[in-house]
Amino acid sequence: MRSILVTGGAGFLGSHLCERLLERGDNVICLDNFFTGRKQNILHLMGNPRFELMRHDIVQPFVLEVDQIYNLACPASPVAYQYNPIKTIKTSTVGVVNVLGLAKRCKARVLHCSTSEVYGDPIVHPQREDYWGHVNPIGPRSCYDEGKRVAESLCINYHFQHNMEIRIIRIFNTYGPRMDPNDGRVISNFINQTLQDEPITIYGDGTQTRSFCYCEDLIRGMMLMMDQDEETGPINLGNPGEYTMLELAQEVIKQVPGTKSTITHVPLPKDDPKQRCPDITKAKTILGWSPTINLSTGLAKTVEYYRSELSRSRQLADKN
Ligand code: NAD
Ligand code: UDP
Repeated sequence: MRSILVTGGAGFLGSHLCERLLERGDNVICLDNFFTGRKQNILHLMGNPRFELMRHDIVQPFVLEVDQIYNLACPASPVAYQYNPIKTIKTSTVGVVNVLGLAKRCKARVLHCSTSEVYGDPIVHPQREDYWGHVNPIGPRSCYDEGKRVAESLCINYHFQHNMEIRIIRIFNTYGPRMDPNDGRVISNFINQTLQDEPITIYGDGTQTRSFCYCEDLIRGMMLMMDQDEETGPINLGNPGEYTMLELAQEVIKQVPGTKSTITHVPLPKDDPKQRCPDITKAKTILGWSPTINLSTGLAKTVEYYRSELSRSRQLADKN
């Protein structure tokens, strides 16, 4: 039986990954500092004898014996990663060195979660893995973008210098149940605003685009990448369906019939990328992977999740 470490395992994507790995029969160690992760995301796994939770920060060294490591530890929402930018940089640099050092000692394969943000505000569209990107090294997003770029460099250099088994994926915007309702990302904001009849906050004129992948599809791709023996990456994982934020708001409104929410425009944050869409030819060819869940199906599942979260928090508030 394999022993698998998932850093950031109590977060949105990490909790789905832990769940899938346990279903498959693996032993899972979930390591998290609970900065953006929530115990609630993994509560249902706690009774499983093959699941172990470790509260730890990857910026501090740690020792474990494992066969594989999925490195997800890092805040993903711009609001969260800009809260303490220096800590974000440390997580993607010192933290990644600690993860790679551990993997080197126990000869574990590492899958590192990089991001479409390494392409910055891309000039090439859609983005292929051989595009080097367009990143402002001193802008408000740089703690995340540049951190993730250094992390890729660390991974690839450990691969070449120490002959380590590394897998790098570049994840494009991914959404679904268990995304923190307050984390400030666009899908959680729009759905929660719409469910509560609040104004839908479009940043800027709403013509900027993103491509949204449902979490189930993403986790499947992540595990396929880890478990194949040929490709180190980086490889793009995302859904090429591209939407403006105005189109996304309309899609969310459709999912919540009767909402009284209307659209409001607020200032666009600095350096907000204008367009983003993955070229997934590599993932299709090498992994045989492509997403299967379209935006309206994925949004319906996510709306359902937030609806039940809202009623749960209202019940809790009534009790207190
Ligand atoms: P998330 O914020 O829900 O999860 C990140 C998890 O890492 C949280 O549980 C957090 O507490 C934990 N963490 C953060 N810093 C840590 C540290 N120093 N030590 C230990 N734990 C730490 O975000 P997510 O959406 O689940 O993202 C998971 C990974 O995927 C991240 O590395 C992110 O950069 C990457 N990614 C996500 C997306 C997306 O759209 N969801 C897109 C691109 C890349
Ligand atoms: N956005 C928005 N309203 C919100 C939150 C975000 O219009 O309430 C926009 C944001 O400006 C960006 C896009 O939605 O253009 C995606 O933002 P998110 O923070 O989800 O992820 P990003 O891809 O920017 O890291």
